[in-house]
Amino acid sequence: MGVLASSLVTDPRELSQLLDIPYEQVAAVHARYPVRVSRYYLELAKQHGTPLLKQIMPDVLELEDNATPPDPLDEENLSPTPCLIHKYPDRVVLLVSKDCASYCRFCTRKRKVGTGDMAVSPGLLDQAIAYIRNTPAIADVLISGGDPFMLSDQRLEHILHMVRSIPTVRIIRIGTRMPCMMPLRITSTLAALLRKFHPLFINLHFNHPAELTAEARAACAILADAGIPLGCQTVLLRGVNDSAPVLQELFYRLLAARVKPYYLFQADLTRGASHFRTSIDTGQEIMRQLIGQVSGMAIPTYALDTPGGGGKIPLAPNYVHRLEENCTFTTYTGTNGVYPNTVWPENDPNA
Ligand SMILES: *Cc1c(COP(=O)(O)O)cnc(C)c1O
Ligand code: SF4
Repeated sequence: MGVLASSLVTDPRELSQLLDIPYEQVAAVHARYPVRVSRYYLELAKQHGTPLLKQIMPDVLELEDNATPPDPLDEENLSPTPCLIHKYPDRVVLLVSKDCASYCRFCTRKRKVGTGDMAVSPGLLDQAIAYIRNTPAIADVLISGGDPFMLSDQRLEHILHMVRSIPTVRIIRIGTRMPCMMPLRITSTLAALLRKFHPLFINLHFNHPAELTAEARAACAILADAGIPLGCQTVLLRGVNDSAPVLQELFYRLLAARVKPYYLFQADLTRGASHFRTSIDTGQEIMRQLIGQVSGMAIPTYALDTPGGGGKIPLAPNYVHRLEENCTFTTYTGTNGVYPNTVWPENDPNA
């Protein structure tokens, strides 16, 4: 089963009525960027207000932001073949679906997700699979899009089968926001299909504790019960989750749903999404408030994806003062620590 069109709001007029905002606002944004919200998330957002609404409500600020590039990570130039991004030596992103259950207003791929520029066809996928097959250094394939769980179970199974049949591919990852945006898409049938392709990892995308509803937690449980390790890639978003208490609650609720917070991303320099960016100081200050105070299991890597395609770098706050014969540093409570930066005996006894 794919996704039922009736569970999505795609008509700008209906969306403006349901969100109680002017039709002109939705129509103006819709003329430039795709607009869509799942009925499930729309209801949730109306209950919880700004932090959820901001993620899906079309905003004219999207149209006023023209200084930043449409493709900040230079993904188009890192595509050896359409539907594939090859940036790191041993892993690729395979784009299998052009659309999502809801279009997040801050999406890094908003230049193409949900548009005709994101064509994914069986022929193009075959080309991408051939590239992976001919590049044995690729050990890790991230299936993404758009949202892969927008595809029917049958189509998904076919794609997973093609990837799994490449002997040099060691692990498969799927990136999806479906447990957040349309949790009922996660069925026991889907889980039974997925578990045939282990080792398979799934990275989810939750940004706010209110998104961890009973339905969302049930979706996570179905996947976790299929033996699939679950991670979460959260985006740090201004006015949505840019505070330590909000993120602490999100990360604990994720852990309780058996989801390990994996990344907290500094927002990319994406055209049409600049109003979501916080300063890096804000992110580092939040990480300082969390590290040591809360379970290490709840701490993701705060990371920045380099503009221009240089890859992700950790943005962890700096605790080290000096690294000479002694390493001096500050602890999470603000006291000083020292550790000798030497080895004993000086010559390696195993050499
Ligand atoms: C983020 C990303 C990956 C995966 O990076 P990890 O740090 O291994 O999670 C791979 N390819 C591209 C193009 C990416 O943007
Ligand atoms: S679910 Fe992911 S790919 Fe889809 S619009 Fe949101 S951020 Fe973009």
